[in-house]
Amino acid sequence: MRRFGATKGARSELKKLFDLTGRTAIVTGAGRGLGRAIAAGLAEAGADVALVTNRTPADEAKREIEALGRKAIVLQADVGDRAKLAGLVEETVVQLGRLDILVNNAGIIRRTPAAEHSYDDWQEVLDVNLNSVFVLSQTAGRVMIAQGSGKIINIASMLSFQGGINVPGYTASKHAVAGLTKALANEWASKGVQINAIAPGYMSTDNTEALRNDPARSKAILERIPAGRWGSDVDLVGPAVFLASSASDYMNGHVLCVDGGWMNR
Ligand code: NAP
Repeated sequence: MRRFGATKGARSELKKLFDLTGRTAIVTGAGRGLGRAIAAGLAEAGADVALVTNRTPADEAKREIEALGRKAIVLQADVGDRAKLAGLVEETVVQLGRLDILVNNAGIIRRTPAAEHSYDDWQEVLDVNLNSVFVLSQTAGRVMIAQGSGKIINIASMLSFQGGINVPGYTASKHAVAGLTKALANEWASKGVQINAIAPGYMSTDNTEALRNDPARSKAILERIPAGRWGSDVDLVGPAVFLASSASDYMNGHVLCVDGGWMNR
């Protein structure tokens, strides 16, 4: 059993808990925004990374990871297209040798009042934000169950808990992501696979550009955040490394809010 505290070498034991050396991760939506920062953070902790991107070139993100001495590959895919998903896991295992960590980060938001929300928008949001999470987790989960270890991190939202305004599809998808996190965690905890989620608060990325450009909404949001600022991509790196590492081995089905205190208000 590991010992911490006053024992000699405790510091290196602690470091080992968060060390991802020798592990391989898939991060979806890794070309920009939160996914790019998470991918770089996992690499800095020691992981090799498969960067899944759709429209954004991820060559710069790849170079950034290689500069850290880690391996990186870029896999292009629209995660809303179910037929593409199994290939992402397969390619990662073939090119990087194994799969230990899956970060389901890719996500879209469509802002229209519910009465006018088109079915196409609803469907697209559910395909990208929810259905891809199920299919990718299932495919990766099979590999992880077979090897007896693995970590899946789903990116949820404050709208995994609240209703939001003008985003019915997004809210439905993110509530479901929280539920799916718990459902998979219950089944796979005994198989050495931990599934948890991070619920970011209001982060300054393309996803929230419309809100930040709306002076009234922007002011109201900022006033409610106890930390007094929008979050940044960097705020998610520590929590992601923690949930990807052995430090979180006894966490199953948790939705971790990284929100500057928004949910407490
Ligand atoms: P973002 O800046 O808008 O980036 C979205 C990411 O998702 C991009 O990397 C994009 O890749 C990828 N993506 C979108 N559709 C895709 C598709 N069909 N196939 C593959 N990749 C796709 O958003 P973000 O803020 O980084 O958001 C990342 C995650 O955090 C999302 O799940 C979002 O819902 C969640 N989140 C964000 C906030 C926030 O305040 N920003 C708060 C809570 C939760 P391409 O550029 O290649 O299309």
